[in-house]
Amino acid sequence: MVAVNAAREILRRLHDVMAGRTAAQAKLNQVVKIVADELGSEVASIYLLRDGMLELFATQGLAQSAVHVTRLSMGQGLVGTIARSREAMSLAEAKAHPDFAYRPETGEDDFHSFAGVPIVRRESAIGVLAVQHREPRDYAEVEIEALQTVAMVLSELIHGAGLVDDAQAARARAANSGPARLNGLKLVDGIARGQAVFHQPRVVIEHTVAEDTDAERERLVTAFRQMREQIDSMMGQAEFTGAGDHHDILETYKMFAYDEGWARRINEAIETGLTAEAAIERVQARTRSRMRSIDDPYLRERLTDLDDLANRLLRILSGQLSTAAQMGLQGDTILVARNLGPAELLEYDKRHLKGVVLEEGSLTAHVIIVARAMGVPVLGRVHELFAQVAEGDELIVDGGNGALLVRPAAAMIKSYQAMRVLKARQAEQWARLRDLPALSKDGHSIALMMNAGLAGDAAALDLTGADGIGLFRTEFQFLVSATLPRRERQQALYSQVLASAGARPVVFRTIDIGGDKSVPYLSGDNEDENPAMGWRALRLALGRSGLMKVQARALLQAAAGQTLRIMFPMISEPWEFAEARALVEAQKALIVRQGHALPTEIQYGAMIEVPALIETLDVLLPMVDFVSVGTNDLTQFLFAADRANPRLADRYDWLSPAILRVIRRIVRAARDADVPVTVCGEMGGRPLEALALMAIGVERLSITPAAIGPIKAMVRSANLAPLAEAMNLWLDAPGTNIRTQLQTTATLQGIALA
Ligand code: PEP
Ligand code: MG
Repeated sequence: MVAVNAAREILRRLHDVMAGRTAAQAKLNQVVKIVADELGSEVASIYLLRDGMLELFATQGLAQSAVHVTRLSMGQGLVGTIARSREAMSLAEAKAHPDFAYRPETGEDDFHSFAGVPIVRRESAIGVLAVQHREPRDYAEVEIEALQTVAMVLSELIHGAGLVDDAQAARARAANSGPARLNGLKLVDGIARGQAVFHQPRVVIEHTVAEDTDAERERLVTAFRQMREQIDSMMGQAEFTGAGDHHDILETYKMFAYDEGWARRINEAIETGLTAEAAIERVQARTRSRMRSIDDPYLRERLTDLDDLANRLLRILSGQLSTAAQMGLQGDTILVARNLGPAELLEYDKRHLKGVVLEEGSLTAHVIIVARAMGVPVLGRVHELFAQVAEGDELIVDGGNGALLVRPAAAMIKSYQAMRVLKARQAEQWARLRDLPALSKDGHSIALMMNAGLAGDAAALDLTGADGIGLFRTEFQFLVSATLPRRERQQALYSQVLASAGARPVVFRTIDIGGDKSVPYLSGDNEDENPAMGWRALRLALGRSGLMKVQARALLQAAAGQTLRIMFPMISEPWEFAEARALVEAQKALIVRQGHALPTEIQYGAMIEVPALIETLDVLLPMVDFVSVGTNDLTQFLFAADRANPRLADRYDWLSPAILRVIRRIVRAARDADVPVTVCGEMGGRPLEALALMAIGVERLSITPAAIGPIKAMVRSANLAPLAEAMNLWLDAPGTNIRTQLQTTATLQGIALA
């Protein structure tokens, strides 16, 4: 039995070896001797990866003539099996195991029992450490753990000596793991290829053997304290962002972060002489191996959370705190994350970011809206993502099929390339429509505007031939900024957007912060239980009117000498609109007093995204110049279904009678009042949904730039009158599956639904 004392003794002796000035080979020879001594085994051997094969590099007990001669491929024999699975193995009777491969040159006939562990670096097996005993015996868990500890130290030694380089290890891992296909939910359409980069990179442990155990213990205490503080503050923010599953995960984090057992196990590992980092990794390796044998999906997920947390603790300890964005992307990248905020996504270098894969995610979460605007395909709700994908793996995101191809085989890469050509051809066809009107076959004209929010977005106006910007989300500037953007910066952005738009209209929406758009410097007074329905958007803006006044002045000045279009978000009752408009109007006097010019005209609009407002349209409509239906929020409030909650992501259909009837009601009321209506939610950017909207009388859409081409193609291939008639009948007959009906009719009509 190897008790803590013996483990400590092994590490003490390894420490001396590591510190010695002998050559790498001599060090390996010393290590096998120490292992055999301390474990009382007749044999101890080290196999290392060389040219894709596992080569016997050092042994105590087997024939020395086999060193650098005996070689096994990945998956071959017990050693190859351990390397391939990256799992420890122990057997009382090795020869009875189906994977046993007899190697006469080693002289191993006399040994019955066998135990081996992988030597791992950056999630790749770079070798195997094995012991053999003459007598058949079972190995105790502490013995396996002692071997694993030695393997960690060996990993440091091997890397330091340059015996196996990282690239070689990664290649071997990829070759040996083989391709995999994971399913997910298409959140932003498109295909992309690149290397997996984790948003929160895994920490690589550089030092395993401690110089000073007391100091390591203290480092751990400090790191735990910091981690607990972080979790507590994230819990606070989660109240604000209200992001569904996110909260559950934080609860689990919190449970583990305060779990005495976990901290104790890490401390025990430190007691044996490991650094705090190595001790965490040591404990985590055991958790991971247990994870693989658990069937219960709930428990597995919780253990993945613990893995995540261990990585956080490692990041704190090692000071490697930056995200992949801050470290900079190198080449074509597929970003891998559990979830992201819109601001986090915007930090990435657009030239290299080709795609995003998330374990969570939902269609109308703001990060997805941002990704859509950036033209970056996103696949969400990919289960087992972190279990299947390692950093550096080649990935293909196939949005159309809702699939992630991991380490794709050559044939898959070929079909990806074919898909790209096809997509490019389709894009060319859409580009050819750029200057043609969005006119249906039977002569109905649809205004196609685009949604925007960042300075660079306006360039898409010319590229797509959009009729203007129907929704400019001004809060994006606040989201990407570490501090509150001052008036000058706001004004500069608005001027720039207006200049790019030229004669085309731009509708500026005043800041809509809150819900899943959190801004740290404004979160002070946001302690809502349910932030989507809390102190957000216009409520926050009217409450902190200083903010709104500054924005109003920035808008008024930016639009001097031309028409200014302002729209207010999240209005629940008409008086809120009146108050917001009065607030803007009051700023005019100030601008004039300061000697600045005013816009020639100001048009005020209201977003319709809170169901209550629909009941008072008769009061609202006479007050406004235009309205815009925000289906993202309207749907979430109509169905009482959090738009950011991945579990609800595909539960409600935009083509359900409730939504279509409510929009039809708005359209009819607005038409009677002679007020133009736009639909600016994500719904309008999907061809079938847009067709449904047109069929209920919507004549203006504001959509993501990438959707302009496909939607225009759809409009130009549709005969609207018969569809409008059919739609009214379906909506009046409850129980009709409108999606199926519309799809069938559209196919029969030959409507282009890309
Ligand atoms: C909406 O709610 O539909 C909308 C367009 O606004 P946002 O997505 O920014 O909340
Ligand atoms: Mg909204």
